[in-house]
Amino acid sequence: MQLLDGNALAKKLRSEVAAAVEAFFAATGRRPGLHVVMVGEDPASEIYVRNKRRDCEKVGMVSEEHRLPAATRLEALLDLVARLNADGSADGVIVQLPLPKQLDANRVLEAIDPGKDVDGFHPLNLGRLVAGEPGLVPCTPSGCMRLLDEAGVALEGADAVVVGRSTIVGKPMAHLLLARHATVTMCHSRTRDLRAVVGRADVLIAAAGRPGLVRGEWVKPGAAVVDVGINRLADGKIVGDVEFDAAVARAAGLTPVPGGVGPMTVATLLQNTLIATKLQGL
Ligand code: NAD
Repeated sequence: MQLLDGNALAKKLRSEVAAAVEAFFAATGRRPGLHVVMVGEDPASEIYVRNKRRDCEKVGMVSEEHRLPAATRLEALLDLVARLNADGSADGVIVQLPLPKQLDANRVLEAIDPGKDVDGFHPLNLGRLVAGEPGLVPCTPSGCMRLLDEAGVALEGADAVVVGRSTIVGKPMAHLLLARHATVTMCHSRTRDLRAVVGRADVLIAAAGRPGLVRGEWVKPGAAVVDVGINRLADGKIVGDVEFDAAVARAAGLTPVPGGVGPMTVATLLQNTLIATKLQGL
């Protein structure tokens, strides 16, 4: 069994980005800038934002945070997004989700300049992904693809199963696999026989946010398994959606949680920021 090590691959990706950032700085005298907007206080978001800032600094990018109070109205948030869209030093713009209830996340995401949408959540970028056109691709599924590629997993003609159909993970993941000629099945909370579908997967992506949902004994022998889930148990332990210890005995490749998809998500965000920086220069 090959452990698909996200920490090691993210490190490699960061050093590639860092080299490109230095080359950009040498040519332009400017460093790429990632601007993160946070509304209110959410403990998980605080951790994600801190990790983004830390990794930006590691690769020589500028990271700026814009904090607004939890009671912020939509107009004020849209004003800030418009200012960042017009700001030449903001190459990438992220509005950290989840937003407080009074704010319509879709309205906000649609207001971000698609060329600066480094999360890849703007409908134009999602549409480009579906149409097979180049664009900014959501970071988590993009990081999963990189893990599969690094491990040399054959995708063409493979039976790929994605568990979870969110717009930020499951759906873009399915399209990335389709673009690589896998035969893709999507499962969700109303799938009738999850075990049977999972059991057919040569490539399995688990992104449901349910600890241990995928039992180790369901995994097809020799499958490549990418566990996107991040679940905190009552004792504080972080686990994925796949029963790791039992899956180890059957999978050919498996991502750990933590240390699998998580670090790849942030590293891919840096890569997207670099792409967005180059788009701005066009
Ligand atoms: P979500 O809640 O938006 O979507 C979950 C999906 O799982 C839904 O489509 C739902 O239908 C499906 N689902 C729920 N219960 C199911 C069941 N019993 N059987 C089959 N399908 C079921 O979640 P999300 O934002 O897509 O995130 C999914 C998980 O991935 C979460 O644990 C989240 O924390 C994690 N996540 C990790 C990263 C990372 O960087 N590693 C990034 C994003 C999300």
